[in-house]
Amino acid sequence: MTFSGSCHCGKVAFTVMGELPHEAMSCNCSHCRRKGFLLAFIPHDALAIERGADELTEYRFYKHVIGHKFCPTCGVEPFAQGEAPDGTKMTAVNLRCVPAADLDALTITKVDGARF
Ligand SMILES: [Zn+2]
Repeated sequence: MTFSGSCHCGKVAFTVMGELPHEAMSCNCSHCRRKGFLLAFIPHDALAIERGADELTEYRFYKHVIGHKFCPTCGVEPFAQGEAPDGTKMTAVNLRCVPAADLDALTITKVDGARF
């Protein structure tokens, strides 16, 4: 199983090896609330950037451990990559960038990121 997604203009496209997630995280931190993410964590190696890897621009803030990857043309952030405290690489996909995801059917876990 794989699922695919992209930024809005299509410069950046990706495929994920694995089942389409049925759950997503909605976080209220200053960054997530502005972008309206519905995030699903996937194994770091499961993400293949099909197009636009060299176009991606990165935004880091706060502890600078998460690289928020966005398209410089349309501004959409399809995924973020970072490292857990133990060094494990992590990737979170923005399910809003995955056309096959039924957003209304997702089980949403609210994360109180504003308090982190
Ligand atoms: Zn774009």
